[in-house]
Amino acid sequence: MIPFNRPPFTGKETEYISEAISAGKICGDGAFTKKCSAWIEEKTGTRRALLTTSCTHALEMAALLTGVGAGDEVIMPSYTFVSTADAFVQRGATIVFVDIRPDTMNIDEKLIEAAITPRTKVIVPVHYAGVSCDMDAIMGIAAKYNLYVVEDAAQGVMASYKGKQLGSIAHFGCYSFHETKNYSMGEGGALLIQTSNDDVEKAEIIREKGTDRSRFFRGQVDKYTWVDYGSSYLPSDMNAAYLYAQLEKADEVNNSRLAMWNRYYNGLLTLKEKGFIDLPFIPEGCVHNAHMFYLKAKDLKERSALIAFLKENGVGSAFHYIPLHSAPAGLRFGRFHGEDVYTTAESERLLRLPMFYGLTESEVDTAIAAVKEFYGVV
Ligand SMILES: *Cc1c(COP(=O)(O)O)cnc(C)c1O
Repeated sequence: MIPFNRPPFTGKETEYISEAISAGKICGDGAFTKKCSAWIEEKTGTRRALLTTSCTHALEMAALLTGVGAGDEVIMPSYTFVSTADAFVQRGATIVFVDIRPDTMNIDEKLIEAAITPRTKVIVPVHYAGVSCDMDAIMGIAAKYNLYVVEDAAQGVMASYKGKQLGSIAHFGCYSFHETKNYSMGEGGALLIQTSNDDVEKAEIIREKGTDRSRFFRGQVDKYTWVDYGSSYLPSDMNAAYLYAQLEKADEVNNSRLAMWNRYYNGLLTLKEKGFIDLPFIPEGCVHNAHMFYLKAKDLKERSALIAFLKENGVGSAFHYIPLHSAPAGLRFGRFHGEDVYTTAESERLLRLPMFYGLTESEVDTAIAAVKEFYGVV
């Protein structure tokens, strides 16, 4: 059986975790946490990267930093993970869902402006599959209406838009290092802050239970105290040790994933040309990171049959998000602006094939052959 996902492992993880344990500091903000933050800052050019316990928590921190509250509106796609919405719902905001583009499955930038009201505070683009949203258009609208933009770049590590790394383009960016993502620490994430040093300080306080402990450790204050609201959003240094082993090998991981992605694409192209399936589209200016490889079947029924057929043939595959606006919480906390032309219909067609670091050419070929067999094409 070719699994749908396997957590990434590059070789030095165990050694680095042992090192973290030997250092006698396994709580947060140890040596490996600092190395990971520095790596992200250097790679992306962001003002400050803070490692967090998850991307969900990075989104929660971003929501706090934007100051959204009851009655405010936050615009995002409905085709996303629950955390994108949850982080803002927790602050009392109403979610305004906007339809996606069928070619990238990202929020349709052309529909955002019409969804803006006097209560709108934030736009949250989600870079699906590590393919960037149209950030020039989105940042332009945000500037015109004085809105915050929070990038849900959970899937976007090592991907870029017009030369800029995803997560470092808008006011705030959020990464995930969950085991299903390209680089992992089991559970974890990062908040990237582009706005100001004041916001960096505020974020450090929120992340450290509302205390100025970060300033204390830098020797800027001689004791630390409770200064504002906050929570505990910093991961253990053992988890950061696992992540650092992967970030060090980021190019190798990225190149290997991209090679498998291209192999899928070229192998399945005839099916697209014959009109059986659709394949991912990478707009100009976007460099993706092979976070996932998906195809689109004709409809829900065909997709279900294909998943079952692949399973019988030893290939793990998976559908993805059920649109949030039709979920019970989505109905309660949000509304869909405009017409749902693509969100539901396209989400019902999408099927993800095995994609992980260490996936082999022969495994990709097996998956391609199985899909072709399903459609009766050789
Ligand atoms: C994975 C993911 C998240 C959540 O990440 P966690 O680290 O598991 O909290 C949020 N948004 C998107 C788009 C994701 O893919």
